Amino acid sequence: MRTLSRLEFSSVLLITLLIFITLINAKHASASVVETQSFINLKNRNIIRYCVDPDWLPYEAIVDGRHTGISSDYLALLANYTDLTFVLMPTSSWRQSLELLKQGECELTPILNQTPKRDAYLSFSDIFFKSPNVLVSLKSQPFLQGFENIGDRLLAIPKDYRLVEYIQQFYPTINTVLTKNERQGLEKVANGEADVFVGSMFSVNAYIQQHGLTSLKIAGWGGPEDELRIGVIHAKQDLLSQINAGLAKITQADHISVYKKWHNITVVEDIDYSLVVQVVTALGMFILFLLYRTMCVSKYNVHLETSNKQLQKLQLELEKKNCDLDFLAQHDPLTKLYNRQYFNQTFLDDARQPQKKMRQNNMSLIIIDIDFFKAINDKHGHTIGDKILVQVAQVLQASVRELDVVARWGGEEFVVVCQHVALHDATELCQRITDELSHFHFYHNIKVTCSFGIALLGENEPIQACFERADAALYKAKQSGRNQYCSA
Ligand code: GH3
Ligand code: MG
Ligand code: MG
Repeated sequence: MRTLSRLEFSSVLLITLLIFITLINAKHASASVVETQSFINLKNRNIIRYCVDPDWLPYEAIVDGRHTGISSDYLALLANYTDLTFVLMPTSSWRQSLELLKQGECELTPILNQTPKRDAYLSFSDIFFKSPNVLVSLKSQPFLQGFENIGDRLLAIPKDYRLVEYIQQFYPTINTVLTKNERQGLEKVANGEADVFVGSMFSVNAYIQQHGLTSLKIAGWGGPEDELRIGVIHAKQDLLSQINAGLAKITQADHISVYKKWHNITVVEDIDYSLVVQVVTALGMFILFLLYRTMCVSKYNVHLETSNKQLQKLQLELEKKNCDLDFLAQHDPLTKLYNRQYFNQTFLDDARQPQKKMRQNNMSLIIIDIDFFKAINDKHGHTIGDKILVQVAQVLQASVRELDVVARWGGEEFVVVCQHVALHDATELCQRITDELSHFHFYHNIKVTCSFGIALLGENEPIQACFERADAALYKAKQSGRNQYCSA
């Protein structure tokens, strides 16, 4: 590859330089066109060059070359209410801004406290914004009631701030360390290089929140509150009447809207730990009491549940006992047939109540008596006699219809009540029972026969009379040789 000759290299360099210069000139030319136009627009207005603290949010700051913060909003309002136009002279520090003000390069600064030193080169407007100063410490430090309680703690203050003068004048014994700005002071406290920092509540809070200095707290109020004004250099002090008139026009609503826009304070409350301990103790005791009460109630509930279960069990048992009692009251314990009492209650007592439905239907009464039962007892014993009674009862129960009633009348005598039957139905039933008995295998192959007395209930006949007729028919059957039925 051919290398460039010295002449060729110089030519390329020259051309590059020419292009660069042309570009810069073009940019300047366009900028001056804009400036000229702006100047034409602004020629009827009084242009004021101003400087700010470039790093003092939320009061003021320069961000991306533009003025922002509370003072920026107030200057905008002032520009509205006066014929003043404010042009920012960008600076990189508050100190530089103060220098430019002293030199007259800057004519105004929009928000600051009045101090004797500043009186030397600035004239001040009326107060338009007030803000308390606060002491900031690590959260672990105690709360401080003003500068009096700082003691030998190291106090950080941003240099060139009004508070430096204030501390020197009123608290000369306090150990102070001057910092470049508020942020540096707060960082010193966070790092443990200083014990306390003093600064404006609004800006301190903004820094703590923006930079996450969560180990810090507002530990107390510090000194007199800031009374913020607009400062103009002496050469421009005739502007003050116009500025004050403009400030006076700022409405309460304007003030509130600026305040709301930039106010974002979180004050760490001074906690009375003894009260906290008392409250926590009381709460703990209350919780313990609730726990104890809950335990007692649940224990009582378990006891109650057990008692309820026992009660339910007893109730069931009682119901069963009652059922058993009912059964026993109506049934013969040996044969489990209805007993005489049931028979009497149901039928004989009904006899006194002719209106009963039962009386209006065909009804047969059959009295059954085991033949020579005494002989069975005598021969096989009373126990076998009982068993025979049970077996006869089974035969009777199996032979009748479901709606018929079989009862043990007493001893070896039974009564059957058949409803809705004619006399011959009743005789058929007696025959059927006789047949069943003859085929039934009784204990010890005992042959059991019965005699039957049948009576059909006559119209308007008392049941008692019918019963007596049936009994008479039974007697007749016995007399006629037993193992037979007779009807009345
Ligand atoms: P008849 O043919 O004339 O009826 O003669 P019978 O022996 O059956 O009559 P009787 O009235 O002389 O005897 C009835 C017997 O029934 C007398 C009694 O000991 C017996 N008896 C009554 N109740 C029971 C009982 O519950 N169990 C037993 N095993 N025997 C009973
Ligand atoms: Mg008898
Ligand atoms: Mg008998």
